[in-house]
Amino acid sequence: MPVIIENTQGPAPMPSRSWLGAMLRGFVRRCPACGSGPIFSGFIAVRDKCPRCGEELHHQRADDAPPYFTIFIVGHIIIPLLLVVERLWQPDYLIHAAIWIPATLVLTLLLMPAVKGSIIGLQWALRMHGFGGKIEE
Ligand SMILES: [Zn+2]
Repeated sequence: MPVIIENTQGPAPMPSRSWLGAMLRGFVRRCPACGSGPIFSGFIAVRDKCPRCGEELHHQRADDAPPYFTIFIVGHIIIPLLLVVERLWQPDYLIHAAIWIPATLVLTLLLMPAVKGSIIGLQWALRMHGFGGKIEE
């Protein structure tokens, strides 16, 4: 008579992923899995797969989070600086515009890919949206 052994422990646990390491690799626009392959094919267009390790990146669902966090960060840098400059030197409004509009644009363009890469890295580390394996539908 065959003996049936019931699996009471469920599937084997997956190895943990460092969310901080994955976010840092994403911040420098690198694959969250290997840290060497480029994550973007354009400015912020995410590759389907990492060209180095083959990790599938199309699972990412960063959506509106990168612009939201970029605006949040840039606003918290530019506005205090603007207020300090106004308080100390009271420059003409055209001087303010000549300083802060380009500064805002440059900071936004520098931070947007980094923030998007970080969010994708976090999603990868937390195995969100299919990064952890197959999604049952
Ligand atoms: Zn990779």
